[in-house]
Amino acid sequence: MNWAEVFRNLKMPYTMERDAILRILESAAVPLSPREIHKMLPEPRASLTTVYRNLALMERMGIVRCVELRERFRRYKLVGKSGAHEHHVVCRNCGRIDTVQPDPCSLQPFLSDIHDRLGYQVLDHSLEFFGLCPMCK
Ligand SMILES: [Zn+2]
Ligand SMILES: [Zn+2]
Repeated sequence: MNWAEVFRNLKMPYTMERDAILRILESAAVPLSPREIHKMLPEPRASLTTVYRNLALMERMGIVRCVELRERFRRYKLVGKSGAHEHHVVCRNCGRIDTVQPDPCSLQPFLSDIHDRLGYQVLDHSLEFFGLCPMCK
């Protein structure tokens, strides 16, 4: 996705912080918290508040998505990153996060069921799993 163009179309400046945040999210294997993103920003670093504000803005713009993994903070990831659909697995013991990219998503039968019973065309879903990782099991 050409992010600069998305911002330009909305008549919003594509700042260095926004570019840096999106690049960090692009190279991340798992969703990141605002604090983690902040730590990875190049110097001179924008404030943590700026990171929060930009993430909230980019979530409203539909560029990033918030992921809730039962932590005291939210994590963020890029929408449609590398075109792959992802689910996340979190270890209840050590907090390790892994990403699975089912292709196609194994929830397809549920989506058909929702369509048949309720008439919805489901556009999107998020599903997180919690368990014990190979190290903690
Ligand atoms: Zn673990
Ligand atoms: Zn899915």
